[in-house]
Amino acid sequence: MAVIDGKAIAADIREEVKAEVTQLKELGITPKLNVLLVGDDPASVVYARSKEKSCGSVGIEFELRTMPGSTAIEEVLDVIDAWNKDANIHGIMIELPLPKGMDKNVVLEAIDPKKDVDGSHPMNRGYILSGGEGLFPATPQSCIEVLLRSGVKINGKNAVIVGRGETVGKPLVFMLLNQNATVTVCHTKTVDLAHHTKQADIVIAAVGRAKMITADMIKPGAVVVDAGINPAEGGGICGDVDFENAREVAGAITPVPGGVGSLTTVLVQKNVLKAIKLQGLA
Ligand code: NAP
Repeated sequence: MAVIDGKAIAADIREEVKAEVTQLKELGITPKLNVLLVGDDPASVVYARSKEKSCGSVGIEFELRTMPGSTAIEEVLDVIDAWNKDANIHGIMIELPLPKGMDKNVVLEAIDPKKDVDGSHPMNRGYILSGGEGLFPATPQSCIEVLLRSGVKINGKNAVIVGRGETVGKPLVFMLLNQNATVTVCHTKTVDLAHHTKQADIVIAAVGRAKMITADMIKPGAVVVDAGINPAEGGGICGDVDFENAREVAGAITPVPGGVGSLTTVLVQKNVLKAIKLQGLA
C-alpha cells in the first residue's frame, strides 16, 4: 500500500506555477487574482486569507474585497462587472456561501467565463462535458491530478465516484470520462453501495460523511482518492474513507489531511495562469 502524498504533489505544481509567473512577468504581465467575500462567514475569511498568503508565495498579486452581508445583489454585480472589464485582473473568485437570500447562480453567472478560476460558470461546466478548453473546479481537478501525478493509469479503468454533488462528484464524472475511465456514480439512492465500490479499480469519495467508506468496501489493490472533509472526533479533520483500515487493503490511498485538499489552492493559481492564456494575453 502506498500513501499518496498530496503535499509533495502540491509542492511540485507550486514550482511549475512559480516558473510560469516569472516568465509572464518577463513579458510584463503580473498575474492577479481578485476574491470577493460578501458577509462574514468565518470559514470563508480563513480560506480567503490562506489564498492571499499562498498567492504571495508564488508571485501572484491578490486583492480581497469584503462587502457586508446586507449588501444588495446589484452592488455585488457592479463589482464583478468592474473586475470583468479590468484587464489587470485575470482571475475572479467569489467566496461561498453567499448571504442568505442572495442568488448564487446570478452572482456566479455574472463572472466573465475566461476569469472564472473557480470553474463555476455554466459555460465552464459545459466545457467539462464537451472536453473543451475552459477553467475547471479545483477539487475534482485535484482528484485527477493526484492520480496522474502518482502514475495511476486511468485509461480503461473502472472508476466509482461516491457522491454526485455539484462541487466534486458531478464534474468528476466527465473529467474521468475524458480520461477514458468507465465511470459509475453512487449516491443516497444507490442500492448496495459496497457492491459497486468493490468493482472499482479507482474509488473516489466525495460525500461529506466521516469514514463511511470502510475497508470491506474496497477491492484489494484498488486506488482510493478521498475528497471528503469532515470534522474528526477529538478535533481536526478526517475524510470520507476509514483511512487506517482502508490503507491495509488499497493499492494506493490519499490521506485527509495531506491529500486532495493540499492541491486545491495551487490549482486555482494554475487556473489564473490558464485564464491569462484564454484571455489571449500570453
Ligand atoms: P454535496 O453537494 O453535499 O454532495 C454529497 C453527495 O454525497 C450527494 O450526492 C449525496 O447523495 C451523497 N451521499 C451522502 N450520503 C451518502 C451515503 N450515505 N451514501 C452514498 N452517497 C451519499 O457535497 P460536495 O460539495 O460535492 O462535497 C463532497 C465532499 O467533498 C464533502 O466532504 C466536502 O467537504 C468535500 N470538499 C472538499 C474540498 C477540498 O478542497 N478537498 C472542496 C469542496 C468539497 P444525494 O445526491 O443522493 O443526496
